[in-house]
Amino acid sequence: DHKATIIDGKAVAQTIRNEIAAEVHLLSQKYGKVPGLAVVIVGNRKDSQSYVSMKRKACAEVGIKSVDIDLPEQVSEAEVVCKVHELNANPDVHGILVQLPLPKHINEERVLTEISIEKDVDGFHPLNIGKLAMKGREPLFLPCTPKGCIELLSRSGVAIKGKKAVVVGRSNIVGLPVSLLLLKADATVTIVHSHSHDPESTIREADIIIAAAGQAMMIKGSWIKPGAAVIDVGTNAIDDKSKKSGYRLVGDVDFHEACKVAGCITPVPGGVGPMTVAMLLKNTLDGAKRTLES
Ligand code: NDP
Repeated sequence: DHKATIIDGKAVAQTIRNEIAAEVHLLSQKYGKVPGLAVVIVGNRKDSQSYVSMKRKACAEVGIKSVDIDLPEQVSEAEVVCKVHELNANPDVHGILVQLPLPKHINEERVLTEISIEKDVDGFHPLNIGKLAMKGREPLFLPCTPKGCIELLSRSGVAIKGKKAVVVGRSNIVGLPVSLLLLKADATVTIVHSHSHDPESTIREADIIIAAAGQAMMIKGSWIKPGAAVIDVGTNAIDDKSKKSGYRLVGDVDFHEACKVAGCITPVPGGVGPMTVAMLLKNTLDGAKRTLES
């Protein structure tokens, strides 16, 4: 019976966090300064609050100073932009993260565009995404989840160059940037989205599958080429009466079936999720290094 190698994202993320903590320590000895990350949250969405507190806690653990900005739901767009400008000018802040989604009355694009590209640790600024899309240009920061996917592949010894990669999903935060990263790494990239005909046969050609559709267990075992590397970004809550919470998290891939065919696969939870936070810390460290060492 074939059994895929499970890519332990939690363990890889912990290794990276230890590496970051060591570097933060060195920076503080050398410059008497630690990296600073501003984490901005608007309103009180439960999911956003839990992501934000996770990120702030992760900062503390590696010695990064988190600058907490909590704004009320009713805050105006101008006030958010003003806060971003203030953080752009603050020399103790090396990274600025605005937790998405923003309330409906605030234009997300406007706010993200105001973040200085030197502090754009989420990598969502159109200039950073544009550079990512262009040959011979280097973005200052790569978006965290896509960067985490590539890092998991490379730390698992999966070669990307020349391979057929299929990305399921084309969102600004995951699908599109991860496709661009794979292209930069010389894969042949196909993007499947909600209008694609016959996603199954496209996915079956892939040496590398990145699943980021937000559709619980959409990708069946039979859709996977034997030996393929599967990175499952999807995080979907489904009803589960056996759990106290009444739900459990599953990916976009049918994990149980996929394990019988894939070469390696990330679990949900414990795969890409922890890597996203680790990459945010890494970006903040890199931003601080760039400033302090220049
Ligand atoms: P979005 O909803 O913004 O995008 C989903 C994408 O998937 C869209 O491009 C959509 O196509 C495509 N899609 C939807 N249904 C299908 C389908 N049946 N077949 C093919 N394509 C489909 O989601 P995000 O990109 O923000 O997130 C994707 C998933 O990843 C979610 O489950 C989310 O929770 C998770 N996530 C996990 C993170 C982590 O750190 N682990 C971080 C961020 C997200 P179209 O463009 O045509 O609408």
